[in-house]
Amino acid sequence: MNISTQAVQVGLEWDTRTGAVSVPIYQTATFRHPGLGQSTGFDYSRSGNPTRLALENGIARLDGAAAGYAYASGMAAIASILLLFAPGDHLIVTEDLYGGTCRLFDRVFSQYGLTFSYVDTSDNQAVKNALRPETRALFVESLTNPLLKFADIPALSDLCRSSGLLLIVDNTFLTPYLFKPLDLGADIAVYSATKYLAGHNDTVAGLVTVKDQQLAERVYFHQNAVGAVLGPQDSWLVIRGLKTLGVRLDRQQENALKIASWLQSHPRIAKVYYPGLEVHPNHNLMKQDCRGFGAMIAFEVDSHALVEQLLLKTELISFAESLGGVESLITFPEVQTHADIPPNLRARLGINDVLLRLSVGIEDCDDLIGDLRQALEAAPLLI
Ligand code: PLP
Repeated sequence: MNISTQAVQVGLEWDTRTGAVSVPIYQTATFRHPGLGQSTGFDYSRSGNPTRLALENGIARLDGAAAGYAYASGMAAIASILLLFAPGDHLIVTEDLYGGTCRLFDRVFSQYGLTFSYVDTSDNQAVKNALRPETRALFVESLTNPLLKFADIPALSDLCRSSGLLLIVDNTFLTPYLFKPLDLGADIAVYSATKYLAGHNDTVAGLVTVKDQQLAERVYFHQNAVGAVLGPQDSWLVIRGLKTLGVRLDRQQENALKIASWLQSHPRIAKVYYPGLEVHPNHNLMKQDCRGFGAMIAFEVDSHALVEQLLLKTELISFAESLGGVESLITFPEVQTHADIPPNLRARLGINDVLLRLSVGIEDCDDLIGDLRQALEAAPLLI
């Protein structure tokens, strides 16, 4: 079954008693037991809630996983996965990582004895060079944030298998609609479901999928033990968002390619990062492994003054953090999403004071281009 059909089906089977098409929101903390030592399968909502389970089963199906788990945020999902490791363990990590993930690794988990090496995970040799005897996992963003580098997951998976490492893929920017890391050898996929999966900039959520049943049981143990679970209302919002994942992403990608091509030809744009453009170094690999190139664009303007002008003068495109929703958003990674990356690493990666990131929504593409044009060509701000 095509994944867009599967996404529409999420939760449909849930209420066999009434046949409700929309999954009921089980707004309950606890469940009555039918008798001593008996359970309906649900005891307490931290351990399991029917609305959350409908979402967890749904994302597991979309990703081809043994199980899925839903958390209060993408960060809670990633933190929960890091609990699989013990003091002394070393992880190799994508270098242009989302700033919040970098902060979690360097300022929280490093205190508990984990160590991290940041490398360009689109360069397989760089990953090999970072291996140490105590390396236990490779944590990769499938498409990186904000510079949109794509990792060769099958090759990295071979490396992980031969070195006994877990391969964990943050697939937030692509989603299972465009890319299925578990089918290509990853052990765990994580998502900020806040983004494309929920898709409407109206809730914060995280999801994890696990390929292997035994590993899934360890992940479930931590989900329940720590308790950073997604509530039933938010689980329902993510399920509702998932149903339109395919149509939203089709439109968003179509818009993104047109906008990236238009930006490339504008005299005040110095550089465009979009993997759908043939000049992008990972274009062919993505064409082979993915269903599309996503809807995130990063670009450099010709001066820092123009950054401020664009952020303030765009009208349809909102100057706001986050991405992946139906509304187009523009952000300035250096001071927003990536402020927690050490400045020297930011500079080396190219996250600088002229780089902007655009999350392309589902609006009419000509309107979006018109908005960018008027902001780029407006009279300079008087500062
Ligand atoms: N992973 C990526 C790639 C992200 O972009 C983000 C947030 O922007 C996260 C994880 C964290 O997700 P959340 O904001 O839902 O906690």
